[in-house]
Amino acid sequence: MLATALSSEPTQMTPWQECQRYIEEKVAASTFETWFRATELVVRNDGCACIQVPNKFAADIIEANFADLIKEALTACAVGFSALAFEPVIREWTVVEQLAEQAAETQNRQVPQTVSGKTGRFYPGYTFDTFVEGDSNVMALTAARSVAEAPGNTKFNPLIIYGGTGLGKTHLLQAIGHYAQAECTVGQVVYITSEEFTNEYTQFLHDKKASLPFYKKFMDTDLLLIDDIQFFSGKGKIQEQFYLIFDKLLQENKQIVLSSDCLPENIPDMMAHIINRFQGGLNVDVLPPNLETRMAILRKKAESEGRTLPDEVVQYIAERIKSNVRELQGILTKYIFSASFSDTGFTLDIAKELCGGALTGKEERLSVKRIMTMVADAYGIGVNQLSAHTRKKEAALPRAVAMYLCKKWTRQTNLTIGLEFGGRNHSTVIAATKKIEADLADATQAELRAKVADIEGRLKELS
Ligand code: ADP
Ligand code: MG
Repeated sequence: MLATALSSEPTQMTPWQECQRYIEEKVAASTFETWFRATELVVRNDGCACIQVPNKFAADIIEANFADLIKEALTACAVGFSALAFEPVIREWTVVEQLAEQAAETQNRQVPQTVSGKTGRFYPGYTFDTFVEGDSNVMALTAARSVAEAPGNTKFNPLIIYGGTGLGKTHLLQAIGHYAQAECTVGQVVYITSEEFTNEYTQFLHDKKASLPFYKKFMDTDLLLIDDIQFFSGKGKIQEQFYLIFDKLLQENKQIVLSSDCLPENIPDMMAHIINRFQGGLNVDVLPPNLETRMAILRKKAESEGRTLPDEVVQYIAERIKSNVRELQGILTKYIFSASFSDTGFTLDIAKELCGGALTGKEERLSVKRIMTMVADAYGIGVNQLSAHTRKKEAALPRAVAMYLCKKWTRQTNLTIGLEFGGRNHSTVIAATKKIEADLADATQAELRAKVADIEGRLKELS
């Protein structure tokens, strides 16, 4: 009799319900409602514990985040199993969504609304109207406009905009978001930097209460903009989470736009299957703007501040600040500020003073291109082989020598030099420079020393 009384309650629960109860105590209520309420357990003949979930996305999320907890629950509830598997059963995604909605209402009213939804965080000035078109960015701009006009309905999915710092990648991502919201070409737009994505996911791991907004944000997204994905480099767990979301949204024809500081396939330690999927969309670069575009950017920026600058000033600044639009704008802001408070007004002298640290005519003669040509000639290869993306030995050494000499003989940054060498990463320039420096100090490398000395002799003549 005692045995019957004791067993009466548990026997009304299935083994999985017991496990669910166990899990419910270990995670936040919202997490449980979102990921565990609509699940079932089937133990197959071979002993595999198969967790049935509403869809593939949920299966992936649960497996990636809760497999250990489920095993623990099965063991605690004495469910024998030889392996664990997750099986999507045909139910609509909306089931999970509805549950998530309900949970959101009953739980966590204080959920931090970081960047999701119509209230997405967009910087006011970063629109297509304020973006100056030039040879260096026309492809990226055209692709950005296309996806903004018809998100998910272009061949550019994902669209990946890559290039050096300060060349307009964030501006373009933001402009897409602005446009899509203003013109209502999609419902939900999310802009997030990969650093924020990483932080939010890490937060979720620490405090499962945050799980609902973390995933829900992406479930509802029609247009997802992730800035600076190179930040995912070497972060395997984050890459997995990113891939789950990326894959789900693409399957649903939702638009994804990413930015990166280098060609995605050159991001170190990025999973091969992610890179493969990137190649299915459009990868388009933004390069440093040419003189004409730099002048147009300066004029437009000055105009937006209610100023018209003398042509000679615009030309002077644009001729000297080459690699980076951010720097160009920085000098302009300083110029307007200084000139406004000087007795002499908007003179060239003030521009000269401000650009003091920038390039001089002498360095102009020794441009990266010039050095590349001289090195290619010295090694008897075509200059285009230096920027080609090949690891062929005959180009590798001259390329490293040319990078080393560019670093030594110009004031260009590693970033700009890398871009001239076929859009290579700045870290490649650093590595090449270090290698040549070490080789030059190596007693066995007399041939290399002679070659470099010969080229440097000619550089001296030019400088
Ligand atoms: P990135 O994300 O590539 O580092 P940003 O998009 O932040 O660069 O651009 C740096 C600054 O330069 C921003 O203020 C941006 O508005 C401006 N900018 C870059 N390219 C252009 C352009 N083509 N026209 C107008 N402004 C630009
Ligand atoms: Mg940026």
